[in-house]
Amino acid sequence: MKNHKKELLSVIVPCFNEEEVIEETYKRLTNVLKENHINYEILFINDGSIDKTLEILTNIAKNDPKIKIISFSRNFGHQSAVSAGIHHCKGDYAVIIDADLQDPPEVIPELLSLAKKEQANVVYGVRKKRKGETFFKRFTAWAFYKIINLLSDVPLPENTGDFRLIDKKVIDAFNQLPEKNKYIRGLISWIGFKQIPYYYVREPRFAGETKYPLSKMIKFATTALLYFTRKPLKLATTMGFMSIVVGLLLTIYVFLSLFLKPQQTVSGWASTIIIIIFFGGVQLLTIGVMGEYIGSIFDEIKNRPMYIIDKTYNIK
Ligand code: UDP
Ligand code: MG
Repeated sequence: MKNHKKELLSVIVPCFNEEEVIEETYKRLTNVLKENHINYEILFINDGSIDKTLEILTNIAKNDPKIKIISFSRNFGHQSAVSAGIHHCKGDYAVIIDADLQDPPEVIPELLSLAKKEQANVVYGVRKKRKGETFFKRFTAWAFYKIINLLSDVPLPENTGDFRLIDKKVIDAFNQLPEKNKYIRGLISWIGFKQIPYYYVREPRFAGETKYPLSKMIKFATTALLYFTRKPLKLATTMGFMSIVVGLLLTIYVFLSLFLKPQQTVSGWASTIIIIIFFGGVQLLTIGVMGEYIGSIFDEIKNRPMYIIDKTYNIK
């Protein structure tokens, strides 16, 4: 392996209740980075863990100055934790990696040499296999990428996570983005420059359970949709247009039946009810869609920080 001494690589690890894996994650990361003579720092972002994660991390950081910790005042979510890492990292390159060892640390040197060889600004991990994930998780992920790619103008490659290497240009560009609700993989794709895939096998979680329950998955997917496409708003126009066409046809029908079969005109009860129900639904749906966008505008306009830092270790 080549000597990567000159530049600094920051490894960003978001952690939420990862007491069972964090020590092992530290060891595996440190081993692979040292073996490959990479000049590195590791930033652990403690996202409001309520187990021993922070205690374990501070013990590690005491003896190893390359380990930096940012500890939040409460749980702000995975995307906020990764953003904090990107805001505070000093590297010429940064790798974003999960704490649970699903993304193997051993491929980091390859990401780095690939970025240099291809002169790429982003090398994003693509999962060619996902071991140990439930059918539900794989199915929802698949459906999510299909829908978002149908609606969004920014390409969002399927089977990617946040596991990726980004260079200084991308880090600086990311840090200029003002929005608070971040969908990181989408934003990095939006930033542009040269982005290339790297195929790898995603391992099962080393220990512990997923920290992404359904509620967090839904919030994540909603942010992605709201922030990367405005097409749902156009739904109202399309449906409004369609209802005008249907309305016109119905008017013709009403007039025709009035003149041709005057004795039957009271029997339009069923169609009236159907129309009321249908358009009631259409209106509620469009109001709901608009409400979601207005809610996001409200969130952004409040301009609250994405996270509150409680303590840091080894960060000057
Ligand atoms: N995570 C976090 N804050 C959260 C949820 C998750 O920092 O609110 C971290 C978690 O510790 C892990 C990464 O995000 O390092 C991915 O979470 P997880 O492995 O539970 O998600 P999954 O792989 O099941 O999608
Ligand atoms: Mg995981």
